[in-house]
Amino acid sequence: MKTMQLEANASAIVKEQRLFFNSGKTKDVTFRKASLKRLYQEIIARETEICEAVKRDFNKSEFEALLSETQFTLAELKHTINHIKKWSRRKSVLPSLANFPSSDAIYKEPYGSVLVIAPWNYPFNLAMAPLIGAVAAGNTACIKPSELTPNTSAIIREIVTAVFEPGHVQVAEGGVEVAQDLLAQRWDYIFFTGSVQVGKIVYKAAAEHLTPVTLELGGKNPCIIDATANIQLTARRLVWGKFLNGGQTCIAPDYLLVERSVKDDLVKAIREEVTKAYGEDPQRSPDYPRIVNKKQFDRLNAMLDGESLLMGGVTNRDDRYIAPTLLDEPDLDSEVMKDEIFGPILPVLTWDKEKEIHHIISRYEKPLAFYVFSRKTRKAKRIMSQYNFGGGCINDTIIHIANKRLPFGGVGNSGIGAYHGKKSFDIFTHHKPVVNRGTWMDVPIRYAPYSKKTNLAKHIRKLF
Ligand code: NAD
Repeated sequence: MKTMQLEANASAIVKEQRLFFNSGKTKDVTFRKASLKRLYQEIIARETEICEAVKRDFNKSEFEALLSETQFTLAELKHTINHIKKWSRRKSVLPSLANFPSSDAIYKEPYGSVLVIAPWNYPFNLAMAPLIGAVAAGNTACIKPSELTPNTSAIIREIVTAVFEPGHVQVAEGGVEVAQDLLAQRWDYIFFTGSVQVGKIVYKAAAEHLTPVTLELGGKNPCIIDATANIQLTARRLVWGKFLNGGQTCIAPDYLLVERSVKDDLVKAIREEVTKAYGEDPQRSPDYPRIVNKKQFDRLNAMLDGESLLMGGVTNRDDRYIAPTLLDEPDLDSEVMKDEIFGPILPVLTWDKEKEIHHIISRYEKPLAFYVFSRKTRKAKRIMSQYNFGGGCINDTIIHIANKRLPFGGVGNSGIGAYHGKKSFDIFTHHKPVVNRGTWMDVPIRYAPYSKKTNLAKHIRKLF
């Protein structure tokens, strides 16, 4: 009975969205821009509430919530509002001689109704960022926030209800059942952020209707440190990138590959930087987040079994607390080296010769992020070119996500497609080519009978 009710809701949402889309309202760029401006104002007005909601969900500090949830979203919104007119404009391209006379153009056409499924780890940002692109491009949208962050999910619903007309954007709250019912519907585009495992389910559901997708997934992100790296700075940037959000970041470094001669110095520097950031007891720091739920806590806690510690290792199930932890040379077949860790546990592996790095990295699927710390810029760039991965940094972590001129996404197992900035507008847009032929003349080469034109056809490529 419950399932039937959910299915009915999912199909009612799609129906309402189609009606709204077919009304033609979203084709009007002024309408889209006004909606995005209202969204901007609503987020500004409720920024404190959003931060409080994320804090209640997994103890994320106000600073981190401002940085990675609201301000990030506002920056993306502002950029989109400022450029939406230009991006939506029909783009003229040079005509081909073969079509002479003509004027050729690319029309920017919304797909229709978009489904956005979001994860819990940046629960506000990762629901809003795709929504901005979808609305800017003229689609209607339905967001399915994560059930694991209910406070943020509720505020997303309130904001959407306050800003958008019903049918334009809706929020479907709930867990796996709701997601599955939504996926059973026919959408014109699906944007999914989450795990590789669920990404495959989404891709299969989309294939049923030949619906195009963007899949923003995860991976095991390596971080290489050679002996020339600035150790203290490397440690500070690593500690920030790894323990931000309690290590629950899709582009956090997953494991370190350190040149053996600097391992001890690096570990010492990481310990110092952790103390500077979170104090002697990170559990008492207001800035250190918790693991999202007990299931994830248990998964992470089990990874510590039998491992040798270089730092941390303290856990508290009731508080869902796992200290910033460094593991010493775990076995490559151990639990912690199997899949993406997605928590504040960082294995430290060492190497003497560069080829050993390759041996380890090549055990895994293409990662979402990849980091190299080295003062040898040419070497770092060579390594960055050598591997397939979503995106990355030389001498830092995470911050490639902060440049809206850089596409953000994975490759292979870590995802399909990329977004941010103009790219977000483009992925939710069908780029429709239209040739407008002149009628004042008609070159007859292509028409039958062909018998006397075969020689001409041998040179026809010059006209394209
Ligand atoms: P998840 O895949 O468990 O859940 C994501 C969404 O899918 C949620 O809304 C959930 O309700 C829904 N879902 C769960 N099971 C489903 C099913 N069987 N069928 C349909 N929908 C289902 O991921 P999560 O735990 O929320 O997030 C963590 C994962 O997301 C990590 O792997 C992380 O790397 C990845 N991630 C990727 C990015 C990125 O931008 N590439 C960003 C954040 C997180």
